[in-house]
Amino acid sequence: MSKKKDIRALTKEELRTFFVENGDKAFRGNQVYEWLWQKSAHSFLAMTNLSKATREMLETHFVINHIKVDTMQRSKDGTVKNAVRLHDDLIVESVLIPTETRTTACVSSQVGCSLDCTFCATARLKRMRNLNPDEIYDQVAAINKESLLYYNHKLSNIVFMGMGEPLMNYNNVMKAIDKITSDEGLGMSPRRITISTSGVPKMIKKMADDEVKFNLAVSLHSAIDAIRTQIMPFNKTFPLDDLKESLRYWYEKTKRRVTYEYIVWKDINDKKEDINALIAFCKVIPCKVNLIEYNPIDDGKFQQAPKQAINNYISNLEMHDIIVNVRRSRGKDIDAACGQLANKT
Ligand code: SAH
Repeated sequence: MSKKKDIRALTKEELRTFFVENGDKAFRGNQVYEWLWQKSAHSFLAMTNLSKATREMLETHFVINHIKVDTMQRSKDGTVKNAVRLHDDLIVESVLIPTETRTTACVSSQVGCSLDCTFCATARLKRMRNLNPDEIYDQVAAINKESLLYYNHKLSNIVFMGMGEPLMNYNNVMKAIDKITSDEGLGMSPRRITISTSGVPKMIKKMADDEVKFNLAVSLHSAIDAIRTQIMPFNKTFPLDDLKESLRYWYEKTKRRVTYEYIVWKDINDKKEDINALIAFCKVIPCKVNLIEYNPIDDGKFQQAPKQAINNYISNLEMHDIIVNVRRSRGKDIDAACGQLANKT
């Protein structure tokens, strides 16, 4: 690997300073910044409004690390999955999910994952490293391009529901979101961005303190500690009481409802007491529940509960005025659905 510095690790201010220190004008920094982010330039050569000498000078100091879409697969239902190669040859996956009214990018925050959810394919990869802000940004930019190409409109929403636990890579995820939402990046509204977390209480509070403007989703899957610990072992370290407390804190500061993601499995969380526990959990702060379809990963340990069990959940939640949606899974035929991202290709 090159010892030159990755130019995309520099802020705009740092770029401006670099040019001044090298006897040029500060606004060159703005020009380069625009090439790097808004225009996603992959080489200095492409920066055609700079002199040849300037481009060569940059070349001697810096590299431009950028992702490469290695393979792109399209599902029968229109879902697109990118296997993305990073500068050190590691791979992550991101997904474009089109509906009639919007296109959503599902992006990764880590290579592999720090957590150990027993029903998720990504957990088996273990965490190799955190993604850098530019690597997160690039996934979104790549999907935005594909959205324009295949669906004729810009990306409308982003969910951090790909590989990894975003709150275990907090600083880089925040920096990426800053770029994604800034006019000098993709100019997207933070209201159209959702971070999904397995629930790291300390970091949920930190997000509230940082007054973030995007949405929060928590992968709950059970509101009973003993069961949640079975399927999401880190729940032992971050039990439901701590999670609740952090959610109260979140709501107090942001006044924004949280989404709970929830899968109903046969013989695991399909009983009345599971439903009652979820209802009680939903009383903690204003929220809504997304029941998501289970996408089997190779072992037979987990099975989606039958329709009747799901309907039980829906009717009981609705009886308590809790908003509940059923989320159909997309892109299953190309292993692009929730929990299936495992670099199979
Ligand atoms: N670490 C974050 C984001 C990645 S997972 C989180 O836990 O929220 C994105 C969503 O997919 C989570 O709700 C997760 O619980 C869910 N998921 C994981 N494996 C799944 C599977 N096999 N089928 C369906 N959803 C799954």
